[in-house]
Amino acid sequence: MNEKIFQMINLQAFPTPFCPGCGHGILMGAVLRAVAELEYDMKQMLFVSGIGCAAWIPSPHFKADTLHTLHGRAIAYATGAKLFNPKLKIMVISGDGDLSSIGGNHLIHAARRNIDMTVVCANNAIYGMTGGQVASTTPLGAMTTTTPKGNLEPPFDLCKLVESAGATYVARQPVATPIPLTRTLKKAIAHKGFSFIDVLSPCPTQFGRRNAFRTAYEMIKTLRNSCIPVEKARGMSPEELRGQVVVGEFVNLVT
Ligand code: SF4
Repeated sequence: MNEKIFQMINLQAFPTPFCPGCGHGILMGAVLRAVAELEYDMKQMLFVSGIGCAAWIPSPHFKADTLHTLHGRAIAYATGAKLFNPKLKIMVISGDGDLSSIGGNHLIHAARRNIDMTVVCANNAIYGMTGGQVASTTPLGAMTTTTPKGNLEPPFDLCKLVESAGATYVARQPVATPIPLTRTLKKAIAHKGFSFIDVLSPCPTQFGRRNAFRTAYEMIKTLRNSCIPVEKARGMSPEELRGQVVVGEFVNLVT
């Protein structure tokens, strides 16, 4: 398997530009493993990303066709590519700022239309590369460069957002548990229709430093400990769920 993964990457592009402890490296490994285990041909795939740290996951690291596009417009480009060549297996990999803040309109309409593509949102709850500004996913009270006294606005629950818009596969996994993450990526990639995964991927540089996390390890450990499987969460009250993140598969419809 490792040999196969080596053949899927541009070795000259490594090391990655990610900060030490960034979750995006784990996500990159999980995407490659999922594609390899599914035995998909990278030459039949197109990876599309916008602007931001996560947008560097496929491009220039994957040995495949990649489109590195404008900020917030990855899904618009992906839609055009799919209409031009419906046989292409299309995977959008980008950040929460890119996909759900600047590009939020494209996200909900692609879900509504059930366009056959997989969207992987590397969600670090902040604008990472562009300076640590508040995003539509930043938790209430969190410190960012634009909310120095704490965020006053409630965040989007991206899974609920795309589910209500019409997505036919919706899931959430943290990078802290790479095996379930890879398993979920495989299901999302193989899904026919619009599939979406909210991947919780910590940013120790922009989020961690401003929110009292002393190390990247502490961030990953806190994330892992705060996750609760959707099956268990179903029987719990909102009070019991406070401070916890529900993970797992929320929607899986055959289309
Ligand atoms: S700024 Fe944050 S998201 Fe970007 S590479 Fe560094 S740790 Fe990762």
